[in-house]
Amino acid sequence: MTRPDPVLAIHGGAGTIRRQSMTPEAEARYHAGLRDALSAGYAVLARGGPALDAVVEAVKSLEDNSLFNAGRGAVFNADGTQEMDAALMDGRDRRAGAVAGICGPRHPILAARAVMERSEHVLLCGDGARRFCAEAGLEHRDPAWFRTEQRWQALQEELERRRAGAADDGDEARKHGTVGAVALDGDGHLAAATSTGGMTAKAAGRVGDSPVFGAGTWADDRTCAVSATGHGELFIRHAVAHEIDARMRWGGQPLATAAESIIAEIAPLGGSGGLIAVDARGNVALPFNSSGMYRGVASGAGVLTGIYGDPLVGR
Ligand code: ASP
Repeated sequence: MTRPDPVLAIHGGAGTIRRQSMTPEAEARYHAGLRDALSAGYAVLARGGPALDAVVEAVKSLEDNSLFNAGRGAVFNADGTQEMDAALMDGRDRRAGAVAGICGPRHPILAARAVMERSEHVLLCGDGARRFCAEAGLEHRDPAWFRTEQRWQALQEELERRRAGAADDGDEARKHGTVGAVALDGDGHLAAATSTGGMTAKAAGRVGDSPVFGAGTWADDRTCAVSATGHGELFIRHAVAHEIDARMRWGGQPLATAAESIIAEIAPLGGSGGLIAVDARGNVALPFNSSGMYRGVASGAGVLTGIYGDPLVGR
């Protein structure tokens, strides 16, 4: 059997800065951040490593980059604290691990990996998750390390908007963001990873779709690997990631049809956002119904990144 060509796709969230507010400098920084994450993840695939390691490396890079809403630079909840969710899934056997509502590990995705590999559970949250992460010896950081002024201001603006009873102005950058990666490795295995601070001014204790398997994260070698971003409640209610798997497995749909149709269906219901997905043949789908989605793809053909609806660009 011929080995498939490895491919990695990433996203940095559907909460893109409005095009009219985006400066060329800021745009260049986002493209550079995406390219850094793609090279970190694709390096694993290029040396014959597993998809699971590739998606973790890509997400670690995005978590450390304060431009994106995950790890450092995570958004604030309504109480003014940061609560992060992360998930990792292995398409070989549907092994999975996730954490919800934590602040402490420098890389929440490594906390998800520790749950998968070192516990008998799939999802840990809150105090128990924090204790587990400490006992697992994960690298930790103080809350101040995760904080950025821009995210703090976004919270103030959102709280002020609510106090004033003003209508939602639809500014996706203020509300949204998440990072994620999906990969196919040279052995034909798929994996998905997602990490997020959630939505700005979310209620304390709120958990989004990212750590909910079948909603924001999914991987099964028979079908696809998926990582989503957007209004998490809608992605949970419509089991978006698993819906793509089901449409492929039971409905015989190609990846692009399954992924694009579910993103189109949830749009009128308030499910703004998008996702990245890859199938076992290396097809990639990057649909979104928001004004943009930070995203990129790395393969033997090179590295491509994009923000708005225009075709991806290589630099
Ligand atoms: N999906 C994330 C959540 O609901 C947020 C986002 O991607 O914008 O927590």
